Amino acid sequence: MSHWGAAGSARTEPYSAGHVFAVPPMLARPALCRPNNRLVPPRVNGRTRAERADARRPLDRPFTNAPGGSIRPVNSLVAALDVGGTSMKAGLIDRSGRVQAEIRRATGVEHGPRAVVDGIVGLAQELVDTAGAAAAGVGLCVPGTVDSATGIARHAVNLGWTDVPFAALVSERTGLPAVLAHDVRTAVLAEARIGAGVGAGSMFFVAIGTGIAGGYARDGEVDDGAAGLAGEIGHLVVIPDGPPCQCGNRGCLEAVASASRISTRYGALTGRTGVSAQRIAELVVAGEPAAGQIWAEAIDALADALAAATVLIDPGTFVIGGGLSLAGPTLIDPLAKALAGRLTFRSAPPLRPSTLGDRAGMLGAALRAWDLVDSAAVVS
Ligand SMILES: [Zn+2]
Repeated sequence: MSHWGAAGSARTEPYSAGHVFAVPPMLARPALCRPNNRLVPPRVNGRTRAERADARRPLDRPFTNAPGGSIRPVNSLVAALDVGGTSMKAGLIDRSGRVQAEIRRATGVEHGPRAVVDGIVGLAQELVDTAGAAAAGVGLCVPGTVDSATGIARHAVNLGWTDVPFAALVSERTGLPAVLAHDVRTAVLAEARIGAGVGAGSMFFVAIGTGIAGGYARDGEVDDGAAGLAGEIGHLVVIPDGPPCQCGNRGCLEAVASASRISTRYGALTGRTGVSAQRIAELVVAGEPAAGQIWAEAIDALADALAAATVLIDPGTFVIGGGLSLAGPTLIDPLAKALAGRLTFRSAPPLRPSTLGDRAGMLGAALRAWDLVDSAAVVS
């Protein structure tokens, strides 16, 4: 669930606006539309898109009456892909959120952005082919800046692309409706509907890993904000003129309290570089002073940011995910105490650890795909 990429991992071979992946004007519609993109071969496995779609639509496909009067196939599956800077988590997932098949594969950033895009689209096709007649749609989530309304991945530093119309490319290749969204906001959706946020009404999700990102959901729906960037709590300034952040600002939460920065700051203090944040958490429990100091600084910064979020949006709960959340009570307990200490006229929202872990993005992509399938069923 990385975002913005790790330092030094940025690649310089982007897709550009004038490239063959440039977005046709017709794509200024939701992701169901399919472009006449010349890069996509008209035939896959010797079949056109229409022929492939027909192959997945046998006459004896079981149907049932669904709420709202639409007709939906029974036992159908969506393909879901969560694309990270290191690996892709993908699966075939049924309507109740059960993972029927799962695969993890290296993203392969070392092969360049074109190969990464081809790998993502190819994996989507593999999943759909595996599902056969049961395939109903495809959901994808990727890091970086995403225009979910048009299904276009605008920019991802660590994956090196610019303006890739993933939803259209996957839809064209598979013959199925496809939807694209931001990875963390997709994880937010899953935690809100089927994870730690269930029953909370509203929740603010914070993913603390290589970077720090977040998102807000109410009643099972994510609010992406006007520019699709709502919830970027990692770039809230918690130390004015503090350490530089990848975003260009200084003193952002991410520059102080992300797992990677905890490791870096511990190395600067002790001379022991390369110690993981997970190991540092163990050293905190063991009572090592340097680890305790770095950890406390991170907790302070996180509490400042959560206090600001509490005052501004009053969430029913915070859900803490990402790699650092694996520290469990070593993170959650002091953070909850520090948060409560910063709030004067109100109580603090509870802090819950993620229940979906690193599957949250994939499951959220599946939920978005089901939303798209359902909306298409209602329209048709
Ligand atoms: Zn920043």
